[in-house]
Amino acid sequence: MTGLGPYELILQVFAFFLGAAVGSFLNVCIYRLPRDLSVNQPRRSFCPACKQSIPWHQNLPLLSWLLLRGKCAQCGSRIAFRYFVVELLTALLFLAAWVEFPGPVAIAYWLLIALLIVATFIDFEHFIIPDEITIGGVVAGLIASFVVPELMAQESRLLAVLYSLGSAALGYALLWLVLEGGKKAFGKKRMRMAEPTAFSWMREGDDAEFVVGSERSTWSDYFARESDLLLMHCSTAQVDEREFENVTLQFHFDSLTIGRESFQLDEVNRICGMVRELQIPREAMGRGDLKFIASIGAFLGWRGVLCSIFAGSLVGSLVGLTTMVLGRRAWSAKIPFGPYLAVGALLWMFFGQQLLAWYVGLLAPGPTVDANF
Ligand SMILES: [Zn+2]
Repeated sequence: MTGLGPYELILQVFAFFLGAAVGSFLNVCIYRLPRDLSVNQPRRSFCPACKQSIPWHQNLPLLSWLLLRGKCAQCGSRIAFRYFVVELLTALLFLAAWVEFPGPVAIAYWLLIALLIVATFIDFEHFIIPDEITIGGVVAGLIASFVVPELMAQESRLLAVLYSLGSAALGYALLWLVLEGGKKAFGKKRMRMAEPTAFSWMREGDDAEFVVGSERSTWSDYFARESDLLLMHCSTAQVDEREFENVTLQFHFDSLTIGRESFQLDEVNRICGMVRELQIPREAMGRGDLKFIASIGAFLGWRGVLCSIFAGSLVGSLVGLTTMVLGRRAWSAKIPFGPYLAVGALLWMFFGQQLLAWYVGLLAPGPTVDANF
């Protein structure tokens, strides 16, 4: 760190503010992508509450949020702290990448950092990672590996692209295996009752209390994504005043289908009956996570894939267990996995070499390790 000349200092300040500005754009993506809104139309940012467009001087990264104290200047409604966090996080990671890596590698990593941040914050809120991010990320990683073959530790551009592609495929396949394994290990997917068991579903505001036999649970705990489904094979069922016999109730979070009939659950107060079998054909994670790890692989190579999945699962289980022990979450509750993969990818990006050395040390401890190893 000796001899940090004014030239480098200016570049570092530039990296930080570029990161903040990019973060500001990422906020737009985080809001608009999952809502199928265009990220460049309208050009100007607008307030999600009053839809008024925000003039440039109220849209300065980091500063505006602080100066306006997190409120819209027009309507006074609160602007989420997330906007500030995303800008600061992007700024800091851009700076860190610039300090840590040679220029071309740092610029390629900026791209990946941007993708990781968008994916993380969208996944938190919506439990999806849009294809623009994941498939777009694979393509970006392939191009980056061609332009900067150092990313794959290669000298030949062609080899770098092949490595990048192979790592993307490896990530997809490996996580797929983990998921399939997880389904068997943790899948409480099917509950066949010894005999028809009474169940009831009682609406409570936006949610419902769901009781099967003596087991009480909260309705929203069963659903992580819009596509999630819960099937109940019933000998009898009653939806408010309507009665059914020998039917399968097909539940989504907010709707119920019986044969050709559909009910909106916010118009139903009470469902009850006798259930023979309960089925949750839910995937522990969506395909989005598979495509996401592929895009991480395209940038970070196969070691990055292994580290992201390993570190991501570890951090994910720790957080999952903690919230479960604290009683905040039922077995089936919502766990987006994308953010953990992103954390794993960042760990690899910045500490990969150290982690590897530490791990090798664990496998071959003591003085038997060759000094040149
Ligand atoms: Zn407003």
